[in-house]
Amino acid sequence: MWYKSCDVVVIGSGAGGAVVAHRLTEQGFKVVLLEAGRQFKTEEHTTAFWSSMKHLFWENGFQHAPGKPTIPFLQGRAVGGTTVINSAICWDLPQDVHQEWVNEHAFEIDYAEIDREQQRIRKDLNIHEIPPEIAGGNSNLMKRGAEKLGWSGRVIARNEKDCRGSGRCLMGCPHGAKLGMDVSYIPWAQQQGLELIADCPAERVLIKKGRVVGVEAKLLTIGKRHWLTREFPGKKIRIQAKAVVVAAGVIQSPLILQRSAVPDPWHLIGSHLMAHPGTSMVGCFDEPVNIWKGATQGYEVNEFRSKGLKLESLGVSPALFGVRLPGAGKRLAEYYEKRGHMALWAGAVRTESKGSVKGGRFLSPIRFGIPDADMKKFRLGIRVLGELMFAAGAREIYPGIVGRPEKVSSAEELMLILEKPIQATHIHPVATHLFGTCRVSADPQVGVLKNNFESHHVKGLFVSDGSVFPSNTGVNPQLAIMALAGVAAQNVVQTF
Ligand SMILES: Cc1cc2nc3c(=O)[nH]c(=O)nc-3n(C[C@H](O)[C@H](O)[C@H](O)COP(=O)(O)OP(=O)(O)OC[C@H]3O[C@@H](n4cnc5c(N)ncnc54)[C@H](O)[C@@H]3O)c2cc1C
Ligand code: SF4
Repeated sequence: MWYKSCDVVVIGSGAGGAVVAHRLTEQGFKVVLLEAGRQFKTEEHTTAFWSSMKHLFWENGFQHAPGKPTIPFLQGRAVGGTTVINSAICWDLPQDVHQEWVNEHAFEIDYAEIDREQQRIRKDLNIHEIPPEIAGGNSNLMKRGAEKLGWSGRVIARNEKDCRGSGRCLMGCPHGAKLGMDVSYIPWAQQQGLELIADCPAERVLIKKGRVVGVEAKLLTIGKRHWLTREFPGKKIRIQAKAVVVAAGVIQSPLILQRSAVPDPWHLIGSHLMAHPGTSMVGCFDEPVNIWKGATQGYEVNEFRSKGLKLESLGVSPALFGVRLPGAGKRLAEYYEKRGHMALWAGAVRTESKGSVKGGRFLSPIRFGIPDADMKKFRLGIRVLGELMFAAGAREIYPGIVGRPEKVSSAEELMLILEKPIQATHIHPVATHLFGTCRVSADPQVGVLKNNFESHHVKGLFVSDGSVFPSNTGVNPQLAIMALAGVAAQNVVQTF
């Protein structure tokens, strides 16, 4: 028995899903958008970091790849997806990365087509450089360091309007200034007739004779969770549709396809998981920095992009900042006392490592390691972040490497502690930019999807999110995900 029927069901309301839903409703299609997470009002976003982790992140922020080291895989779970908790940094898909895809992955989508979408989204989401009055001390210091060293860097461009520089993007913007999907494409699509159903995780796509016929989902009753599984109770519903777009993100999309028994003769669904795991550096300055004041991320250094490394200033709440400081007990308290004079910068690494996502595994569906070849990039990241800090005037820095001195007073001293190789277990990487798992390729032995984003094996089944990327990009992915989603929507239209 069908609960309702429509032209297209979109599963997931993040960067990929929201744009597809918007473009399809714009062209008059009847679209239902299913979102596993809740719909939050702007005023519900709080300053309490742990509370926002619990409400806005997958698995309350504990989603991870177990191993040595265990790596947190952060993703949003709310209407708007990860765009609700991201820093709003916007980058076009680099043309050199697109060329790699064309040369190595049988990727056939023209850059001009992607760029048309990028240009539109840049306008729609008011993407612009941060104005100096909200840059904040943390970003200004990074700029100073980069200029002193002559390294290429720039003020970050973001999707926001009237940002107040409250440094809280990672907990949901309390002012509605960040133009995430929750306050932009989703409400705009609702005005065009989109039906949004929140608290409704899709279980599987329904397939008959090689063709999509609908989606089975669970409509949750938010209240008391099951005592053991911590799941909310709910009722099963079935929505009939002529096409389904899975946009549940890099971890959940392959799991949905696996649960739906989508044919996978070459075991590609969930393979080739790629990421930009990050490392960070804290430095203490004589002058006040107050990293929690100013736009969350305001300056980036792109000098090392060809080496697979991107540096960014990073503002976090005082509670979270404490986690990155060395020591424990009284010593930690002494460091924490000086927090107002500390800067925090991060390095995102374009790793070569390829992991996987598979349902039914022990502890977590995710497996992802950091081989020695990638550790060279992390070592470079730690070295150049340290050099940059000292160039900006840091008195001392805290490299955060297990088994090495917790405090370093010069770039030369940092070089000394980096002489011995660093292993993955010595650092604390966190993965926030995720790619692969349902890749596009004209070759069905290489990719899950054709170049029109439709499954090689099931008619009317499309995917549109970070999982379609043939590889990681080395830069912040949300704008490229949205742009590819715009292109995907045009292909969905062709099937009607
Ligand atoms: C802390 C953090 C900061 C970041 N900062 C930036 C930044 O500044 N700039 C940038 O470019 N990128 C940033 N990113 C990455 C960027 O936000 C993501 O790459 C992007 O949002 C991914 O888009 P997506 O459509 O693939 O998935 P998501 O945006 O994650 O959306 C997927 C949605 O699907 C939903 N879903 C999952 N399973 C189901 C199901 N079964 N049924 C229904 N719904 C489901 C999820 O709840 C989620 O809402 C950041 C990421 C993190 C974690
Ligand atoms: S810095 Fe503050 S006001 Fe600006 S977008 Fe982020 S959360 Fe919103």
